[in-house]
Amino acid sequence: MFAGALVGMVLVIALVTIPAMPASASVDNPSCGWTTAWHGPLPGGDAYYDLRWFASQLNDRCRQYYPLVVARLASVNLPEWHPRDSITFVFTWNLGAVARTSSTTGIVYLDVAYFNAQPHDWGAIFHEMTHVAQNYPGGQPAFVVEGIADYVRFFLGGSLPAGNPPFESYDRARCPANEDYTSGYGCAAALLAYVQDVYHKDAPRAVHALGVRNQGWTYSSELHRLTGKYASTLWAECLHYERWCNNGR
Ligand SMILES: [Zn+2]
Repeated sequence: MFAGALVGMVLVIALVTIPAMPASASVDNPSCGWTTAWHGPLPGGDAYYDLRWFASQLNDRCRQYYPLVVARLASVNLPEWHPRDSITFVFTWNLGAVARTSSTTGIVYLDVAYFNAQPHDWGAIFHEMTHVAQNYPGGQPAFVVEGIADYVRFFLGGSLPAGNPPFESYDRARCPANEDYTSGYGCAAALLAYVQDVYHKDAPRAVHALGVRNQGWTYSSELHRLTGKYASTLWAECLHYERWCNNGR
C-alpha cells in the first residue's frame, strides 16, 4: 500500500512538472510549464515551503501575464516579430544569478535559493518572460535587450490588480548613481519610459522593433528620429526628471 501510494505520488509529480505543449498554444494562450534541472521534485521540508508556493503559482501567472508582455511590445508595423508561444521554467541550483533566459531555446532558468527567499518577486519573472518574447537575433545591445525587459517589468508591475502578491518594482525604473542608460536594465528602462512620457508614446515599441530587425545598435539614431535628440542628450535631460532617471540618486 505504501509503495503503491509512493509510486502514485511520483507519477503525479511527473505529470505536474512536465510542461504541457498543446498544439493550440499561441501568445494569447501560451504553453507554460516548469521542471527541475535534476529531473526530480522540488526540495522538500519546511525550509523550501516558499519555493513550492512560488512554483505552484508559476504556470498560472505565466499564462495570465505573458500575453500582457507581448501586448506591451506589439505593433501592427512589425509582422516580422515572432514571439515564442511556449515557456519552460527550469529550477536549478547555483545559477549565479536570479534567473537566466536562453535566447536560443526560450528556456528560463530560475535559482532555487533566490526564489525560496523571494517568492514574491514576480517582477523578475516578467523580465525573463520579456526575453522569451523578444526572440531577437544575437548581439543586440544591453540598452535594447535588458532595457526593454525592465521597461515591461516596471509597467506590468504597476498594473497588477489589488490582491496579488507584493511586487518588487512598481512604477519606477531604478538606475544606480554610477551608471547610465548604456548599462541596460533599470537605467535603459528609465530612459525609455522618459521618452515615452515626454516625447513619443510608441518609442519603446520602436526600440523593440530594432531588436527584432537586428538593428539594435541604431537605437540612438532611432530616438533622434522620434524626438530630434540623441540618447546621450535625452539621458542628460532625464537626470533632471524625478519620475525616472534620477530616482534613487
Ligand atoms: Zn535580462
